[in-house]
Amino acid sequence: MVRLAIHGGAGGDGPWKGPTDLDPQRIACMQSVLSTVGSMLENGLDALEAVTMAVEMMEDEPLFNAGIGSVLDANRSVTMDASIMRGSDRAAGSVVNVTKIRNPIRAAKIVLDNGWPVMMNSTAADKFAIESGVEEVSPDWLITDLRLAQWEKWKSAKSRPGSTDEDDGAILDHDAEGMGTVGAVAIDSRGVLAAATSTGGMTGKPDGRIGDTPIIGAGTWADHTVAVSCTGVGEAFIRTCAAHEVSTRLRLGESLSQACKGMLDMVAPIGGRGGVIAIDKEGNVEIPFQTMLMYRGAWIEGEIMTGIGPSLSSQ
Ligand code: ASP
Repeated sequence: MVRLAIHGGAGGDGPWKGPTDLDPQRIACMQSVLSTVGSMLENGLDALEAVTMAVEMMEDEPLFNAGIGSVLDANRSVTMDASIMRGSDRAAGSVVNVTKIRNPIRAAKIVLDNGWPVMMNSTAADKFAIESGVEEVSPDWLITDLRLAQWEKWKSAKSRPGSTDEDDGAILDHDAEGMGTVGAVAIDSRGVLAAATSTGGMTGKPDGRIGDTPIIGAGTWADHTVAVSCTGVGEAFIRTCAAHEVSTRLRLGESLSQACKGMLDMVAPIGGRGGVIAIDKEGNVEIPFQTMLMYRGAWIEGEIMTGIGPSLSSQ
């Protein structure tokens, strides 16, 4: 009973207006992730490596906000966060504000494999990752024309760096052109659950800002009951320990669907527009969101489903 679910970010207000010109490329990437990694999971790949590979493939797609194509911060730089967790032993790894590696999630996985510490920060995390074999890239290589144009728009609109999560005017990557934080959750043939999330954060974020994505329990969580990856305005997800909240609600007897919805309802009043993907130990898959759209997909028993707006379609 293996399962894989992925997201490529959630956001926007109002009704979905249909796909943009760039969306077919995003959908094609998600389909490729689901068919490649889904088949590997079925053939015995473990959940931890599955979510790492799934997120790496989306980091490598320039239209998602992770790895190459990450959004730019207030200093016009790319600073990326990623985290990963295995449910069976709660092993976790996280890197914060890395700037010159191709795949932050691979770095987080190596941190997890090392066992201690759980989180590594900026320059030291880059150095550790590169010395551990993660591909080094120039910070400029990570910057795409699309993100540069979004940053120029943010700059000329004089949007506030450090906009708060309660501020609807905060520039999310989502509002400018799609979104793109990426995440994956999986259960493997041994019943092990794992979750991974990776992001460039939010356009114009202030130097040193840390979102929910690299924080275990906020953006990412996995234990023996559930694997969770969140996307949305990070500060609200941090303030509610959102990913962990799903597990807490399961422990209190809620279904996975109730737990995910309950978590999003808890995050929303403090400015947390977003969505979540989750798989529980029974193999239930939930992918709810409260925003205009969420790039998302799942691989269930060989069937691949993807979607952006309200409905999912099968391939
Ligand atoms: N949660 C991410 C952050 O706050 C952004 C996102 O998911 O779009 O950095």
